[in-house]
Amino acid sequence: MKKLVIANFKMNPATAGETSDLVRSYGEKAKALEKVEFVAAPPFIFLLEILNKGLEVAAQDCFYEDSGAYTGEISPLALQKLGVQYVIIGHSERRRMGETDEIIGKKLQAAIRNGLIPVLCVGETQAEKEAGQREAVLKQQLSQALGNWASAIRDFQLVVAYEPIWAIGTGLACEPDEANRAMEFILNETKKIIKDVKMIIIYGGSVDANNLKGFLVKPNISGALVGGASLKKEEFAKILEIANSV
Ligand code: PEP
Repeated sequence: MKKLVIANFKMNPATAGETSDLVRSYGEKAKALEKVEFVAAPPFIFLLEILNKGLEVAAQDCFYEDSGAYTGEISPLALQKLGVQYVIIGHSERRRMGETDEIIGKKLQAAIRNGLIPVLCVGETQAEKEAGQREAVLKQQLSQALGNWASAIRDFQLVVAYEPIWAIGTGLACEPDEANRAMEFILNETKKIIKDVKMIIIYGGSVDANNLKGFLVKPNISGALVGGASLKKEEFAKILEIANSV
């Protein structure tokens, strides 16, 4: 199976030209690599820039209604009609801005209803890790987001990104064995909620060209969500090559 590598540009770069430049080089590289599925997650306003190059994209978020009086929100239906394949939901940077598990659950349903593949982000804070609460936090995030609706849906695809919050943007990645154990827990908990899900789990949190291989050789880790390093052309080109070599 191909390794899924998602480049989360966050709120960067500032222009379509810079986005195009970054993605052109990644796209050319990724097209030559048989064992990698490369997905770019740019700011909304640059999605078309990437789709027009024939590459796959992830939106960084979506709203939970398809249309209506919701100024400033982005419709999952509009994303699907634009040709978007994936949508990141519940990133910790959005949870920090007030997004709750209940909202995340509604967004997940909206993504699935519109045929988008959700990339559900879960992970614990440093304090929760130190208090030995990692599994309790993951269980709560999964059960609240997938709630009692997911078991009624058949045959949908789900990507879960295990992103320990203490590892995001800090340069302190999780130990691969530790991440692999957390992912096994995520897999088992999700299967208790949904029986027929086609699911993979990817790791996110200070991934770079030096540590990526250590994650991808683990049995439960099917790819990576890469933030900061995805804006560094040479580093990210190496990341794609490494993902292809595992
Ligand atoms: C992210 O934005 O999801 C992320 C993992 O960021 P970074 O790679 O910079 O830690």
